[in-house]
Amino acid sequence: IACRDLIAPRHRDTESTADKSEPTARAGPPAIVEGIEGCIGNTPLFRIKSLSEETGCEILGKAEFLNGAGQSSKDRVALSMIEMAEEHGILAPHSGDTIYEGTSGSTGISLATLARAKGYLAHICMPSDQAIEKSNLLLKLGAIVDRVPPAPIVEKDNFVNKARALASAHTASGTGRGFFADQFENEANWRAHYHGTGPELYTQCNGHMDAFVAGAGTGGTISGVARYLKPLLPHITVVLADPQGSGLYNRVRYGVMFDPKEREGTRRRPQVDTIVEGIGINRVTANFEAGKELVDDAVRVTDAQALAMARWLVEKDGIFIGSSSAVNCFAAVKTAMKLGPGHRIVTVLSDSGSRHLSRFWATAGDVGGAVDTKLEDVLNARDED
Ligand code: PMP
Repeated sequence: IACRDLIAPRHRDTESTADKSEPTARAGPPAIVEGIEGCIGNTPLFRIKSLSEETGCEILGKAEFLNGAGQSSKDRVALSMIEMAEEHGILAPHSGDTIYEGTSGSTGISLATLARAKGYLAHICMPSDQAIEKSNLLLKLGAIVDRVPPAPIVEKDNFVNKARALASAHTASGTGRGFFADQFENEANWRAHYHGTGPELYTQCNGHMDAFVAGAGTGGTISGVARYLKPLLPHITVVLADPQGSGLYNRVRYGVMFDPKEREGTRRRPQVDTIVEGIGINRVTANFEAGKELVDDAVRVTDAQALAMARWLVEKDGIFIGSSSAVNCFAAVKTAMKLGPGHRIVTVLSDSGSRHLSRFWATAGDVGGAVDTKLEDVLNARDED
């Protein structure tokens, strides 16, 4: 069939459609903004059709991969941390100041992008097991990149400790200032979501939502959004989506970072053992602390379940998202099943699958053409032996 003579229904200017259609409230495109930093925030919220139909709930995804600088939810955080440092005179544009950060990648990409836009240098330390496309992108942006072996936070060579030490050494050298952004402990992080993501969701939902579901890498998203929404919507259920290997699930369910049913040795689990990037931690950061009393429930998601959900979203909806977003969507479905039909569940689509081609999506494989997966298969997905 040749499509050149066809006109899409929404472009057909016939009397009948003009008469019958409700005048749709279209805000129109956003006004002109100042620089790439003006393209951060105000991301769309959309109905994930397949999951909504399957569960009888309304499952909505906040398209954070559409933030315009580094293309993830971390744009909000990077901008907030830089602006706070500028307000306090810790950073000054075009003065040779360098921003240091320990990051699984997304925050580094947002910081490196905004550093360019605002006249700073960026030096990023990241664990060497994260997807290579993230460090390649950082190099294209002109950031210095240290890929360091994954190590527990208590180790000196951990990526976060390394960034902190490099920033101090830079400042001590007298050749300009080294600013350690410190996304895990810097409370400008959750405040970005308190002032941005939370109010946007409230407005987009017209104040009607029953649950908010999000993973925690630093805890900034879940704490900031929960702190904004809970006083306005006291009935809302805030659910942590936690990948395998992370201690936060146990922290929410049992009040401790390890499973009391497991043996003592698991307390000092060296790192979060999952293919999922960006979420899952084995300590309570300042940003998780800021909202931890507001988290009502937690869902643990295995790698196999995250991979199956990511494939499902491509197969059914054409939504190509990264690993943490897949964990969030899986936990959103579990939450829908717990609450029952008729509820509205909101979750976060933090970044795009294109950031995860070499690792998560390499494992997920290609989604075949003629497939018809059942949601049951996604819910029951298990690691292959
Ligand atoms: N998704 C991705 C891809 C991330 O990089 C991060 C942050 N590391 C998160 C989700 C989690 O967000 P937060 O740090 O606000 O908990």
